[in-house]
Amino acid sequence: MNRAAGAVLDLLFPQARCLNCGEPRELDAGSALCDGCRAALEGLRVPGNACPRCLSPTKAGEPCGYCLGGGLPSVRAAYAPFLYRGAARRLVVHLKFGPFELAARPLAAAMARCVSGLAFDALVPVPLHRRGLRARGANQSALLAGGVSGETGIPVREALVKRRETRRQSSLSARARETNVRLAFKARDNVRGLHLLLVDDVRTTGATAQDCARALLAAGAEAVSLLTAAVAWPGGEDG
Ligand SMILES: [Zn+2]
Ligand SMILES: [Zn+2]
Repeated sequence: MNRAAGAVLDLLFPQARCLNCGEPRELDAGSALCDGCRAALEGLRVPGNACPRCLSPTKAGEPCGYCLGGGLPSVRAAYAPFLYRGAARRLVVHLKFGPFELAARPLAAAMARCVSGLAFDALVPVPLHRRGLRARGANQSALLAGGVSGETGIPVREALVKRRETRRQSSLSARARETNVRLAFKARDNVRGLHLLLVDDVRTTGATAQDCARALLAAGAEAVSLLTAAVAWPGGEDG
């Protein structure tokens, strides 16, 4: 085969790289991860000792310190497949910088399994401010909500707007994060009487989820639960 024909074949059948380890491999049905990293991702499941209400770590037989300290008062229950570490963390980063859809696929599939059999009226992605959306090109929460909707049939409802830019949460202390996002979100849709499932990429302190849930309850939602791809635990690489 001459070189030009080889280059054309490379274009038609590109070698995909695993989004976690960068290993080149054959493109197989649009999968984001190689077999090894897929197995590693399964090892990052939120363990059984998580608080069933908020998914924070708890010691056996003891109540959840986070919930006792106030936790997420506006959130009825939290669901997430993975701890925010390793391959799960890398996929979440790819959700922000691309390739967006490929990174969203395995996360959304696992998120959908977390809520299978549960009833919600709509999935509500955490919005970006319009300036942030323009800069980034995609909203990672909307990508995940779209994927979860495809698997579960629960409709997506863009019921929230972010009315002001906030600083990057990861650069702030826990207390500063709460002030940073407080009242940053507002409902723009009629959600009266609905049980909504708020969708985000990762929960760290929960300040964003709490502010979104508060806004939806203020607009008449009956209940708000939270579904994220990952949850950060103390001691992990939770940035
Ligand atoms: Zn890999
Ligand atoms: Zn808890």
